[in-house]
Amino acid sequence: MSMKKVIMKTGIIASVLLFGACAESQVRDDTEPATESEQSEDLIQDENSAADESQNEKNDDQDEDAEGSSRAEEESDEANKEEIEKLKEEIKNPSSTAVLANKKYSLPEAFIPENLVTVDVPTVLPNPEIKQMRGTAADALKDMFEAAEKEGIILYARSGYRSYDTQVQLFKNYASKHGEEAANKYSARPGESEHQTGLVMDVTSESVNLQITSDFGETEEGQWVKENAHEYGFIIRYPEGKSDITGYIYEPWHLRYLGKELASEVYESGLTYEKYLVERGLNIEIQ
Ligand SMILES: [Zn+2]
Repeated sequence: MSMKKVIMKTGIIASVLLFGACAESQVRDDTEPATESEQSEDLIQDENSAADESQNEKNDDQDEDAEGSSRAEEESDEANKEEIEKLKEEIKNPSSTAVLANKKYSLPEAFIPENLVTVDVPTVLPNPEIKQMRGTAADALKDMFEAAEKEGIILYARSGYRSYDTQVQLFKNYASKHGEEAANKYSARPGESEHQTGLVMDVTSESVNLQITSDFGETEEGQWVKENAHEYGFIIRYPEGKSDITGYIYEPWHLRYLGKELASEVYESGLTYEKYLVERGLNIEIQ
């Protein structure tokens, strides 16, 4: 068993994963160096309910009409198989909006998304790289921010695209400060950050001082995002209490674009993206 796995099994998963997915306090925007440990505390406190996933994640059995027409069933089975085959390909394709990127399925080093654009919404940090998303995702983000604003909800974009090289640099910085072994445990390896897809934006609000913190989930803005993001094609990729599936602690700020249809399906399922794919019949490895 690898060191990483041993640690994850020993119940200190929260601290191991603190800097995993977003880790953007390490990304050169060292404008707020003092808050990292505060954030860490918040994040740890929110990591107490990881245990009851299997119960929550089980789908209800669907009672199928046993007398349904066998031909219709065959046809729908066939269509379903085709969809599954398509999804299987898409989750492996870094250019697909359905791509699965996590600690088990990493992105190629050379992958740079096409059509990266600077988002046209209020941002927090000066680094131009992380203000970018793929065009379709950036458009959807704008739609979502505008819809929120109409309801008096003001959102800010904080950290979007992050290149493989940026992640290499982050990892090196971490290793030089804390040693390679610690870096292996605490920082996302290059290729394992979903931010490299260009389909992610970390969002925040003034009510949490424009920071990345689990408190965001409790704010009016965080609640709005939780309830509405799927309508614009986004999911909260790392829900509360699912870290043993997603590999990451609760991150109410980390929005992943999947497109409206898929995002809504995942949202309605109540599952993590990984478990949703399993329920769809994809044989993927989970953590
Ligand atoms: Zn993030």
